[in-house]
Parts: sequence; C-alpha cells; structure tokens
Amino acid sequence: MPSTVIEPVGSFAANKTILDLLARSGALLEGHFLLSSGLHSPRYVQCAKLLESPGRAEIAGRLVADLAREWAVDTVVGPALGGVIIAHEVARALNTRCLFTERVAGEMALRRGFELRSGERVLIVEDVITTGKSSLEVRDVLAAQGADVIGYACILNRSGQAELGGSPLLGLVDLELPTWWPEACPLCATGDAAVKPGSRPRGPEESQIAERQRPASPVPPRRPKHDDDPNLGGPSL
Ligand SMILES: [Zn+2]
Repeated sequence: MPSTVIEPVGSFAANKTILDLLARSGALLEGHFLLSSGLHSPRYVQCAKLLESPGRAEIAGRLVADLAREWAVDTVVGPALGGVIIAHEVARALNTRCLFTERVAGEMALRRGFELRSGERVLIVEDVITTGKSSLEVRDVLAAQGADVIGYACILNRSGQAELGGSPLLGLVDLELPTWWPEACPLCATGDAAVKPGSRPRGPEESQIAERQRPASPVPPRRPKHDDDPNLGGPSL
C-alpha cells in the first residue's frame, strides 16, 4: 500500500506553515494504521519525516517555541525518542537547555547526569501528543526533582484538549483523524490488515522479493552529500 500525501482534516487552519512542511516531507500518510492506543486509523502523521530535515526541524522548533514564548521557560524536556529532536529545536529557539527522559525497564527516567534545580520552569515538548500519557510520566519524573512543569507544547495535538494534568497544552496543529476500534474498523472489514506506523506497509511476498534482490556482499552506499561533515574533512555544503 503506497504512502500518499493527503489533505488533513480537522481544524488545520491553526498553522498552515507546519501543515505545508508536513505535506512536503511526506509525513501525511494514508493507509490502514494500528496506533499505539490499539485504535485503527486510515491516516497517520509521521513527524519523523518532517524532522529528518534539520532545516524543517528548526522551523518547526521555532514555531513550537513561539507557542510558549511568554512562559519564561528555563529548560525544555522531551521524552525519547519522539520528543528529542523537536525538544532540542525548541530549546535552540528559546535559548534554553534541552534534556530528555527515557524509558528504563518501561519506567520513564531522567538519566545521563541531567539535573534540575528546585523551581526550575520546565516546558515539556513532544512531536505528537495523543493521550498525553507519556508527557504526564515525564512531568512526574521532573516534579520529583522539584522542577515546576509549566506546560506542554507539541507539533500535533491529537488529544482534543487544551490542557494536560492541569497545565496548558499547546500544539501547532489540532488534527482530528478518524479512528476506530478493530471491531468497527471498515478497513478491517475489507480483509485488509492494519500496520504499525513506521513499519513497511508491504505484504510478506514483497518482503521476500526485496530479500532476494539484496546482493550477497552489499557494497556500502555512497554517503549522500548532505551527510558530509565539514568537521571530518568532507566537502562543506
Ligand atoms: Zn482496521
């Protein structure tokens, strides 16, 4: 099933710029998706596709930062993995530190020597907030360190809410994408199987073909030009 650029639905007038960036990044997907909630949806927004471009990530970060510009943020924190890149770009735009939390044996944790002082004003940033569950787990971790979580900001707010855990929740775009439980999913009714976003939406036959076509001794691909690191002596852009 090919991934195609689609027109998003819902109150997308919120920010035309980010929707344009998402569309041009191929981040707006159409298919039959199994969401982490267990719901099925014919549409999915893969923010990683937007963030794979550092230039677009920087623009997105600036736009998200503008949402929270007046909150006097000391530090931005994003949960790994989805929140790390956008949190870093938001921190760049706000000129603050950027920390990330990560799961250790399923539990959200702040590691790697990251520390917060008592009363530090923290903005939690994610790419997409759907239920807000992981954001609230981040809040609990930070609050345990005495930090003051002042709010949440994201690229896409799928929660339908403007607050989370009693603090404001702001998204660049509020997207209302249709979802169904599997029993009521019209796509399942056609015999089609839902796929997790990010997995290749292909049947097993095609995977086998791809496997057979792989050379026995693969030659490392040429590094694309944008990968060249001037610090390593490669050509600069
Ligand atoms: Zn389905």
